[in-house]
Amino acid sequence: SAFDGDDSGDLKPRQTPGVLYSKTVPTPVKKPEVLAWSEELAQELGIEKPTDQKDVDVLGGNHVAPSMYPYAACYAGHQFGNWAGQLGDGRAITLGEWEAPDGKSWELQLKGAGMTPYSRRADGRAVLRSSVREYLMSEAMHYLGVPTTRALSLVSTGDQVLRDMFYNGNPGYEPGAIVMRVAPSFLRFGSFEMPAARRENENLRKLVDWTIDRYYPHLQGEGRILAWFKEIMEKTALLMVDWMRVGFVHGVMNTDNMSILGLTIDYGPYSFLDDYDPDFTPNTTDLPGRRYAFGKQANIAYWNLGCLASAIAPLLEGTEELVAILETYPDFFHGKYYAMMGDKLGLDQVQATDQELITRFTQTLYTLNLDMTIFFQLLIDLPQEVGTEEDVVAHFQPSFYRDLEKGERAMLLSLITDYAARLSANTGPREAAAQKMRKANPRFILRNYLLHQAIEELEKGENQLFLKLQAALKDPYSRNHDEFFAKRPDWASQKAGCSMLSCSS
Ligand code: AMP
Ligand code: MG
Ligand code: MG
Repeated sequence: SAFDGDDSGDLKPRQTPGVLYSKTVPTPVKKPEVLAWSEELAQELGIEKPTDQKDVDVLGGNHVAPSMYPYAACYAGHQFGNWAGQLGDGRAITLGEWEAPDGKSWELQLKGAGMTPYSRRADGRAVLRSSVREYLMSEAMHYLGVPTTRALSLVSTGDQVLRDMFYNGNPGYEPGAIVMRVAPSFLRFGSFEMPAARRENENLRKLVDWTIDRYYPHLQGEGRILAWFKEIMEKTALLMVDWMRVGFVHGVMNTDNMSILGLTIDYGPYSFLDDYDPDFTPNTTDLPGRRYAFGKQANIAYWNLGCLASAIAPLLEGTEELVAILETYPDFFHGKYYAMMGDKLGLDQVQATDQELITRFTQTLYTLNLDMTIFFQLLIDLPQEVGTEEDVVAHFQPSFYRDLEKGERAMLLSLITDYAARLSANTGPREAAAQKMRKANPRFILRNYLLHQAIEELEKGENQLFLKLQAALKDPYSRNHDEFFAKRPDWASQKAGCSMLSCSS
């Protein structure tokens, strides 16, 4: 490529000024074994399921094929609002680029494959728990229709990894694992912040030109950097809208976890919402500030785009146009957000007057602590005749985490009554609205407690629940997996800390 990499092979944690990556080799593990394989993705990539030990060794980092050029990328980032300086791939190693039969090119990366120059004070490894979470959730997001990096394989390493977190009553060692994740690119906002912060304008320009040529090739000529930024802005806004649609909280929206392609990237302490709560953050290190809470994600994305704009500004004549593009974000986001909510509600066209109704929905979900996913499913099945308050309460009962008070029951009735009236003002038939709703509202979501259970089982060597979840996540808008169509159980309540459990990496 056009870049000067550091190819000294030195894995000592250090600053690497002047380069955008360091050549790095995976550190072998004791006994790599394939726990899971994404067959549909493999077919798309044109990669065959590993049959012999040599292939498994590649997935575990024990063998590097001669055609591979493994490296760790150097990037920086803002973490929790503060400049964090150089970060880089501390435990992810890109093996190289893979061209699929359809001509698309994919970056193949091992996460948890050992130390790199960017490992800082950590070990370069990943535990089974976090690897299962990344493997399943990135695939779940893909099938939900949310832009995301993908996961091809999950491999146990046979090594134990030391984590200083209390887990399972067992502080100390946990089984290690490696995920092969794939994406057109793993470049992040932070990839551009790094050369910018170092005032390496030549590297910055090379990286921007290369990124546009390769991933935004339709943008050419004068002004293409601005046009590129506008596309990133739009992709990022659309990603936030999708997260809000399915109730996803990322949990660590640092600028080093923001994809330059608008993908969901770096699955850590994420969670789906069970009961709707804009203040919910699944990340214990995000307390008490709740910077990365569900309802703040769109704003944080805006803030992060501001960081990206600052990083690329040195390549432009002035910053006026760049700032002007950035400032279109709130309107762009809101337009897409209300359109999405209109789809969730089955409105055939969102009018300005619908915004109030939409806000009443989110307020009601929040005030009544309703289960977001179940509520919208029940809304699809709402009878033509709304009926009495008792009827409405009974209809939505499966989404309740507690009994409703008198005022809350009235709040629900009045919302549903007004909604039914609005729905009958649709120009299209009711069935068209229901169809739209079925596409916008997932019925199966990979709830945190399900992941938690599946991981506990896997640690005991049982994979039944894992396999069931792997099947269900491929088909999230259907009724085929209604075994999982249920609220979070009491034992897993957020207040009991379960949703916070599976955070460490
Ligand atoms: P994250 O918050 O997971 O996005 O990670 C922030 C930074 O810490 C990135 O540079 C990661 O590569 C690095 N990192 C996280 N966990 C580890 C680990 N176990 N070993 C080395 N680097 C890590
Ligand atoms: Mg990260
Ligand atoms: Mg991470």
